Amino acid sequence: VKRPGQTISKGHKNYDLMLNLQLGIRYSVGKHSSIMRDLKQSDFDPSEKFWTRFPPEGSKSTPPHQSVDFRWKDYCPVVFRHLRELFAVDPADYMLAICGSDALREFSSPGKSGSFFYLTQDDRFIIKTVKKSEVKVLLGMLSSYYRHVCQYNNSLVTKFFGVHCVKPVGGQKTRFIVMGNLFCSEYRIHKRYDLKGSSYGRTLDKADGQRDETTTLKDLDLDFVFHLERSWFQELMWQICKDCEFLEAEKIMDYSLLIGVHFRDDYSGEEAKMSPKNINSEEGNVNHDETFMRGYHLLPDMDWVMEDQGPFIRLGVNMPARAERVGKGRSEMEHQNQDWRLRGESNRGNEVILYFGIIDILQDYDITKKIEHAYKSLQVDPTSISAVDPKLYSKRFRDFIHKIFVEDKVL
Ligand code: ATP
Ligand code: CA
Ligand code: CA
Repeated sequence: VKRPGQTISKGHKNYDLMLNLQLGIRYSVGKHSSIMRDLKQSDFDPSEKFWTRFPPEGSKSTPPHQSVDFRWKDYCPVVFRHLRELFAVDPADYMLAICGSDALREFSSPGKSGSFFYLTQDDRFIIKTVKKSEVKVLLGMLSSYYRHVCQYNNSLVTKFFGVHCVKPVGGQKTRFIVMGNLFCSEYRIHKRYDLKGSSYGRTLDKADGQRDETTTLKDLDLDFVFHLERSWFQELMWQICKDCEFLEAEKIMDYSLLIGVHFRDDYSGEEAKMSPKNINSEEGNVNHDETFMRGYHLLPDMDWVMEDQGPFIRLGVNMPARAERVGKGRSEMEHQNQDWRLRGESNRGNEVILYFGIIDILQDYDITKKIEHAYKSLQVDPTSISAVDPKLYSKRFRDFIHKIFVEDKVL
């Protein structure tokens, strides 16, 4: 299975940065794990940040280390401690995932922003370097973010676990956020889409080189419609609405719905083992039956779960769906159907498992975005460009989601 990213080992240009980050996180998580108290309003104060010096020889509160002398900043640590608990992240698991030896892989910055991304070996967490302005946005909306994710268990917005800054003595500051990886799955993700609902420039550049399953495709590359079981479809639309209301109120734009697709009927190599074939068929045979999406229950948006109700799924996490091909010319469509029959696939579409969530939510409609809007508006239809006012952005985003997800009529 191809996994994205390259392990950061000694000699890598960001090796020291990684060591510092690991030392810092170990220190922060350790420090706050013993004191669990209720949150106070002052914990959300953006000026609630703590610098710690990590000299190589060690200090009263920090261990000796092999890296450069650096300072470490923790933003609103008590809030993030509570968020980790809310998102069911065990402190020991968290520390081990990030701070274990050779724990991180770097994937070359997929976005245009120039951020670096690090993935933990267990695939659970992503660390992203961010701009000062993004930290500011996150801290500014922290209390409403906290309220939002507490209120909506099934919220699709990015799960944030921590915000930090590393500053080597005499060097530049690097700011990080730690967040959940949407594609943490035992099943292979065959296709990924980063969808904004805008069209201008929303296709993968031909020049982007080799495409494979770790390539993130964009709006115009999407040629599927996803059929969801009725109650999940409704739950999804409702939740997207709530999440968009929140983002709009915070004046956020430029976010994406990130979707990962696992095709159940891909039988290449070890795939057979990897796919949840035996969901409905005891023998584990290929079965393109209509019951694929039944027998599952959406995990209710509440703390308790009734037993013997069958397997549970969560919104955006391992969600069964049917992916129907669309958006091709008629002749190509017929060709495709033939293609399917040859491969023994059903033309009702492919059975898939979906993973999705809303990412990149730290951009507000600032002066650079307004200029980008004004400038691009001179060249193309203003509603097709990504940079638009948050209200318009959210409306377009929701409309787009309504187009690519449909209620499954057969069930
Ligand atoms: P830009 O601002 O140019 O859109 P960016 O540098 O801010 O890009 P993001 O949009 O946050 O980057 O993410 C870029 C890509 O990284 C996504 O398209 C996705 O492939 C991957 N990615 C980001 N966040 C996650 C996540 N939480 N889980 C899985 N993959 C992610
Ligand atoms: Ca983005
Ligand atoms: Ca961004």
